[in-house]
Amino acid sequence: MKTQFAEKALVLFSGGQDSAVCLAWALARFPEVETIGFDYRQRHGIELEVRRAFLDGLRAGFPEWAERLGEDHMVDLSVLADVSETALTRDVEIEMAEDGLPNTFVPGRNLIFFTFAGAVGYRRGLKHLVGGMCETDFSGYPDCRDTTLKSLQASLSLGMARDLAIHTPLMWIDKAATWAMAEDLGGAALVDLICETTHTCYLGERGQRHPWGYGCGTCPACELRAAGYRKYREARIEL
Ligand code: ZN
Repeated sequence: MKTQFAEKALVLFSGGQDSAVCLAWALARFPEVETIGFDYRQRHGIELEVRRAFLDGLRAGFPEWAERLGEDHMVDLSVLADVSETALTRDVEIEMAEDGLPNTFVPGRNLIFFTFAGAVGYRRGLKHLVGGMCETDFSGYPDCRDTTLKSLQASLSLGMARDLAIHTPLMWIDKAATWAMAEDLGGAALVDLICETTHTCYLGERGQRHPWGYGCGTCPACELRAAGYRKYREARIEL
Protein backbone atom coordinates (compact mmCIF):
# COMPACT_ATOMS: atom_id res chain seq x y z
CA MET A 1 0.00 0.00 0.00
CA LYS A 2 1.24 3.47 -0.85
CA THR A 3 1.95 5.97 1.89
CA GLN A 4 0.60 9.46 1.27
CA PHE A 5 2.90 12.36 1.98
CA ALA A 6 1.68 15.46 3.73
CA GLU A 7 1.30 18.42 1.41
CA LYS A 8 4.84 19.64 1.65
CA ALA A 9 7.05 20.82 -1.18
CA LEU A 10 10.68 20.70 -2.21
CA VAL A 11 11.75 23.42 -4.66
CA LEU A 12 14.71 23.02 -7.00
CA PHE A 13 16.26 26.40 -6.27
CA SER A 14 19.36 27.33 -8.28
CA GLY A 15 19.56 31.02 -7.44
CA GLY A 16 18.24 31.98 -10.88
CA GLN A 17 15.18 34.06 -11.63
CA ASP A 18 12.91 31.18 -12.68
CA SER A 19 13.50 28.99 -9.66
CA ALA A 20 13.14 32.02 -7.36
CA VAL A 21 9.64 32.67 -8.76
CA CYS A 22 8.86 28.96 -8.35
CA LEU A 23 9.90 29.16 -4.71
CA ALA A 24 7.48 32.05 -4.14
CA TRP A 25 4.78 30.06 -5.99
CA ALA A 26 5.32 27.10 -3.66
CA LEU A 27 5.36 29.29 -0.53
CA ALA A 28 1.98 30.71 -1.56
CA ARG A 29 0.51 27.18 -1.77
CA PHE A 30 2.16 24.75 0.61
CA PRO A 31 2.35 24.97 4.40
CA GLU A 32 5.93 23.69 4.44
CA VAL A 33 8.54 24.30 1.77
CA GLU A 34 12.17 23.20 1.62
CA THR A 35 14.76 24.00 -1.04
CA ILE A 36 17.44 22.00 -2.81
CA GLY A 37 20.43 23.20 -4.83
CA PHE A 38 23.08 21.35 -6.81
CA ASP A 39 26.75 22.15 -6.99
CA TYR A 40 28.05 20.73 -10.26
CA ARG A 41 30.96 23.12 -10.78
CA GLN A 42 28.78 25.23 -13.07
CA ARG A 43 30.54 28.18 -14.73
CA HIS A 44 27.97 30.49 -13.23
CA GLY A 45 28.83 29.25 -9.73
CA ILE A 46 27.80 32.74 -8.69
CA GLU A 47 24.23 31.35 -8.66
CA LEU A 48 25.14 29.33 -5.61
CA GLU A 49 26.34 32.46 -3.82
CA VAL A 50 23.29 34.56 -4.61
CA ARG A 51 20.78 31.85 -3.61
CA ARG A 52 21.63 32.46 0.05
CA ALA A 53 20.99 36.18 -0.39
CA PHE A 54 17.59 35.48 -1.94
CA LEU A 55 16.59 33.10 0.89
CA ASP A 56 17.69 35.69 3.47
CA GLY A 57 15.70 38.36 1.62
CA LEU A 58 12.58 36.18 1.63
CA ARG A 59 12.89 35.58 5.37
CA ALA A 60 13.39 39.29 6.09
CA GLY A 61 10.75 40.72 3.77
CA PHE A 62 7.95 38.14 3.77
CA PRO A 63 7.09 37.05 7.34
CA GLU A 64 4.23 34.72 6.28
CA TRP A 65 6.52 32.87 3.90
CA ALA A 66 9.39 32.87 6.40
CA GLU A 67 7.25 30.68 8.69
CA ARG A 68 6.77 28.14 5.90
CA LEU A 69 10.33 28.14 4.60
CA GLY A 70 12.30 25.21 5.97
CA GLU A 71 15.65 23.61 5.42
CA ASP A 72 17.91 24.27 2.42
CA HIS A 73 19.69 21.19 1.04
CA MET A 74 22.88 21.47 -1.02
CA VAL A 75 23.89 18.38 -2.95
CA ASP A 76 27.38 17.97 -4.40
CA LEU A 77 27.04 16.77 -8.00
CA SER A 78 30.51 17.83 -9.10
CA VAL A 79 30.78 14.45 -10.86
CA LEU A 80 28.58 15.97 -13.59
CA ALA A 81 31.54 18.07 -14.74
CA ASP A 82 33.28 14.81 -15.66
CA VAL A 83 30.60 14.00 -18.24
CA SER A 84 30.32 17.44 -19.85
CA GLU A 85 31.48 17.89 -23.43
CA THR A 86 34.42 20.07 -22.46
CA ALA A 87 35.65 17.35 -20.11
CA LEU A 88 35.16 14.51 -22.60
CA THR A 89 36.51 16.18 -25.76
CA ARG A 90 39.81 17.83 -25.03
CA ASP A 91 40.10 20.51 -27.70
CA VAL A 92 36.66 22.01 -27.22
CA GLU A 93 36.52 25.60 -25.96
CA ILE A 94 33.59 26.61 -23.81
CA GLU A 95 31.20 28.37 -26.19
CA MET A 96 27.54 28.89 -26.97
CA ALA A 97 25.98 26.40 -29.37
CA GLU A 98 23.40 27.52 -31.94
CA ASP A 99 20.56 26.62 -29.60
CA GLY A 100 21.87 29.14 -27.03
CA LEU A 101 23.13 26.47 -24.65
CA PRO A 102 26.72 26.48 -23.44
CA ASN A 103 28.48 23.35 -24.68
CA THR A 104 29.30 22.44 -21.09
CA PHE A 105 25.64 21.42 -20.92
CA VAL A 106 25.17 17.94 -19.45
CA PRO A 107 22.56 15.95 -21.41
CA GLY A 108 19.55 14.99 -19.30
CA ARG A 109 20.71 17.16 -16.39
CA ASN A 110 17.21 17.84 -15.10
CA LEU A 111 16.44 14.12 -14.96
CA ILE A 112 19.37 13.77 -12.57
CA PHE A 113 18.31 16.80 -10.52
CA PHE A 114 14.72 15.62 -10.11
CA THR A 115 15.84 12.09 -9.24
CA PHE A 116 18.02 13.44 -6.42
CA ALA A 117 15.21 15.77 -5.37
CA GLY A 118 12.89 12.77 -5.32
CA ALA A 119 15.27 10.89 -3.04
CA VAL A 120 15.58 13.87 -0.67
CA GLY A 121 11.80 14.39 -0.82
CA TYR A 122 11.27 10.74 0.07
CA ARG A 123 13.52 11.05 3.12
CA ARG A 124 11.98 14.35 4.21
CA GLY A 125 8.34 13.44 3.56
CA LEU A 126 7.94 16.08 0.86
CA LYS A 127 5.48 14.99 -1.81
CA HIS A 128 5.60 17.93 -4.20
CA LEU A 129 8.71 18.66 -6.29
CA VAL A 130 8.76 22.09 -7.94
CA GLY A 131 11.05 23.21 -10.77
CA GLY A 132 11.33 26.24 -13.06
CA MET A 133 11.50 24.32 -16.35
CA CYS A 134 9.88 26.03 -19.28
CA GLU A 135 9.11 24.98 -22.86
CA THR A 136 8.31 28.49 -24.03
CA ASP A 137 11.79 30.01 -24.04
CA PHE A 138 14.12 27.03 -24.02
CA SER A 139 12.81 24.50 -26.51
CA GLY A 140 16.42 23.41 -26.91
CA TYR A 141 16.39 21.58 -23.59
CA PRO A 142 14.63 18.24 -24.10
CA ASP A 143 14.82 17.52 -20.37
CA CYS A 144 12.76 20.67 -19.68
CA ARG A 145 9.79 19.47 -21.70
CA ASP A 146 6.45 18.75 -20.12
CA THR A 147 6.20 15.20 -21.50
CA THR A 148 9.71 14.39 -20.24
CA LEU A 149 8.83 15.52 -16.72
CA LYS A 150 5.40 13.82 -16.74
CA SER A 151 7.21 10.60 -17.65
CA LEU A 152 9.79 11.17 -14.91
CA GLN A 153 7.06 11.83 -12.35
CA ALA A 154 5.56 8.43 -13.21
CA SER A 155 8.97 6.73 -13.02
CA LEU A 156 9.90 8.28 -9.68
CA SER A 157 6.49 7.46 -8.17
CA LEU A 158 6.79 3.85 -9.35
CA GLY A 159 10.45 3.51 -8.41
CA MET A 160 9.92 4.87 -4.89
CA ALA A 161 6.40 3.40 -4.43
CA ARG A 162 5.18 6.84 -3.29
CA ASP A 163 3.06 9.44 -5.02
CA LEU A 164 5.47 12.22 -5.97
CA ALA A 165 4.12 15.18 -7.93
CA ILE A 166 6.34 17.29 -10.19
CA HIS A 167 5.12 20.88 -10.63
CA THR A 168 6.45 23.26 -13.29
CA PRO A 169 4.46 26.49 -12.89
CA LEU A 170 6.45 28.27 -15.63
CA MET A 171 6.12 25.53 -18.25
CA TRP A 172 3.80 27.38 -20.65
CA ILE A 173 4.53 31.04 -19.92
CA ASP A 174 7.20 33.38 -21.26
CA LYS A 175 9.72 35.49 -19.34
CA ALA A 176 7.44 38.55 -19.24
CA ALA A 177 4.69 36.45 -17.65
CA THR A 178 7.23 35.06 -15.17
CA TRP A 179 7.99 38.62 -13.99
CA ALA A 180 4.24 39.32 -13.80
CA MET A 181 3.77 36.13 -11.75
CA ALA A 182 6.43 37.36 -9.32
CA GLU A 183 4.57 40.65 -8.91
CA ASP A 184 1.23 38.88 -8.43
CA LEU A 185 2.75 36.63 -5.75
CA GLY A 186 4.87 39.07 -3.78
CA GLY A 187 4.29 42.55 -5.18
CA ALA A 188 7.00 45.03 -6.12
CA ALA A 189 9.07 43.87 -3.14
CA LEU A 190 9.47 40.40 -4.65
CA VAL A 191 10.28 41.81 -8.10
CA ASP A 192 12.96 43.99 -6.49
CA LEU A 193 14.40 41.07 -4.52
CA ILE A 194 14.58 38.97 -7.70
CA CYS A 195 16.31 41.82 -9.58
CA GLU A 196 18.78 42.42 -6.80
CA THR A 197 19.73 38.90 -5.76
CA THR A 198 18.96 36.29 -8.44
CA HIS A 199 21.40 35.47 -11.22
CA THR A 200 20.87 34.38 -14.81
CA CYS A 201 23.97 35.46 -16.82
CA TYR A 202 25.87 32.59 -18.48
CA LEU A 203 29.16 34.47 -18.03
CA GLY A 204 28.73 34.94 -14.28
CA GLU A 205 28.95 38.71 -14.73
CA ARG A 206 27.61 40.87 -11.86
CA GLY A 207 29.45 44.15 -12.40
CA GLN A 208 26.62 46.20 -13.87
CA ARG A 209 23.12 46.68 -12.45
CA HIS A 210 20.48 46.89 -15.19
CA PRO A 211 16.77 47.56 -14.52
CA TRP A 212 16.27 43.76 -14.67
CA GLY A 213 19.22 42.89 -12.44
CA TYR A 214 22.91 42.06 -12.84
CA GLY A 215 24.57 40.48 -15.87
CA CYS A 216 26.70 41.02 -18.98
CA GLY A 217 23.59 42.10 -20.89
CA THR A 218 24.59 40.36 -24.12
CA CYS A 219 24.67 36.58 -23.53
CA PRO A 220 21.50 34.64 -24.53
CA ALA A 221 20.39 34.31 -20.89
CA CYS A 222 20.78 38.05 -20.20
CA GLU A 223 19.03 38.98 -23.46
CA LEU A 224 16.10 36.73 -22.59
CA ARG A 225 15.83 38.12 -19.06
CA ALA A 226 16.12 41.75 -20.23
CA ALA A 227 13.60 41.33 -23.08
CA GLY A 228 11.15 39.64 -20.72
CA TYR A 229 11.50 42.41 -18.16
CA ARG A 230 10.93 45.13 -20.82
CA LYS A 231 7.80 43.38 -22.11
CA TYR A 232 6.51 42.94 -18.54
CA ARG A 233 7.06 46.62 -17.68
CA GLU A 234 5.44 47.82 -20.92
CA ALA A 235 2.39 45.61 -20.34
CA ARG A 236 2.00 46.92 -16.76
CA ILE A 237 2.29 50.54 -17.89
CA GLU A 238 -0.47 49.98 -20.46
CA LEU A 239 -2.86 48.66 -17.79
ZN1 ZN B 1 25.03 37.56 -19.49
